[in-house]
Amino acid sequence: MNIEHNHSLQAFNSFGFTAYAEHFITVSSDEQLLEALATANSEKWPVFLLGGGSNLVLTRPIPGLVIHLTNQETTYQQQSDGTTLVTVAAGKPWHEFVVETLDNDLAGLENLSLIPGNAGAAPVQNIGAYGVELNTRLHSVRAYHRASASWQTMKPSDCAFSYRDSVFKQNPNEFVITHVTFLLSASTPAVLSYAALNQALTANNINTNPENAADNIALAKIISQTVINIRQSKLPDPKIIGNAGSFFKNPVVDAVHAQTLKAAHPNLVAYPQPDGRVKLAAGWLIDTLGFKGYRKGNVGVHTEQALVLVHHGGGTGEELMSVAQEIITKVDANFDVRLEIEPVVV
Ligand SMILES: Cc1cc2nc3c(=O)[nH]c(=O)nc-3n(C[C@H](O)[C@H](O)[C@H](O)COP(=O)(O)OP(=O)(O)OC[C@H]3O[C@@H](n4cnc5c(N)ncnc54)[C@H](O)[C@@H]3O)c2cc1C
Repeated sequence: MNIEHNHSLQAFNSFGFTAYAEHFITVSSDEQLLEALATANSEKWPVFLLGGGSNLVLTRPIPGLVIHLTNQETTYQQQSDGTTLVTVAAGKPWHEFVVETLDNDLAGLENLSLIPGNAGAAPVQNIGAYGVELNTRLHSVRAYHRASASWQTMKPSDCAFSYRDSVFKQNPNEFVITHVTFLLSASTPAVLSYAALNQALTANNINTNPENAADNIALAKIISQTVINIRQSKLPDPKIIGNAGSFFKNPVVDAVHAQTLKAAHPNLVAYPQPDGRVKLAAGWLIDTLGFKGYRKGNVGVHTEQALVLVHHGGGTGEELMSVAQEIITKVDANFDVRLEIEPVVV
């Protein structure tokens, strides 16, 4: 077992902050994982599970043992009804996995193209984009539950999924996700509820009503490429400027609150929810307060995307959190809305 000490995490967090893991190990099998966990137990080290670091704000060194899962295996099990169970190991880069499923003529994950990070972390915040959330495609999650020292195969109903949330996010580092299984097929219906995606397809005269599985797969591949194009035009690339994508969740308020805000701010961007409440665009709230392009030292808000906080280089996670707090305070004071931070803060 190769445990490294004071291991730099600069390449393991998409903000690019300088931070260290007290102890660090990569594991590629169940046996190695259990050995690493046993060592952490006997040394009384806390454990931190690290994927690609694209949803993390590191404000300090991570104490104890950081475990990075690297197994990238994918397996396919055809079912008698024409669907396929696809199992991906935690270390596989998410987007590579999405592309692989499409190359294998399986539709269902195309709207989630180009989300950074690894497959093992995808259920943690129930990743979502362009009208699809992971839980709608999920068959099961295989995880090692540390408290009961047992392997579990968890169905979506066991995972307490909601918007950017799950039992895994609520109980950090308790469940080590080693594999994620999806139920996909050539005929998984396309989801085109997201206006920008729908408009882009219509503008290119794409037939969005496929008549057979072959046409459906062709459409899924076009959707994937369209999502990639939209994302590349809208979101800053962490390789060029440090960021973790959307920094705040879109807040959900009751209908009366939304009506009051709409009366005061006719341009308010708001989406009615099935439960009668209303989801507000956090980016709009932040932008309206003039934060777009705001810079404080080496951190700030992206010039084009008010929802994306950025690291210009040479800054710290603590500095970033102080900008986040400034935004939270001002949004609360002006709109009576409490913004919640989406990434995991260490
Ligand atoms: C430019 C950009 C765009 C983004 N766009 C989106 C988007 O559209 N939608 C969206 O939902 N997210 C988005 N994100 C956020 C991020 O990509 C996802 O949350 C992603 O799933 C994080 O994966 P990761 O491997 O980097 O996880 P990490 O950042 O390494 O970890 C995130 C959390 O998961 C835990 N974790 C990691 N691996 C495991 C494991 N094997 N078992 C248990 N817990 C684990 C960690 O302890 C941590 O709490 C974006 C980020 C960036 C930088």
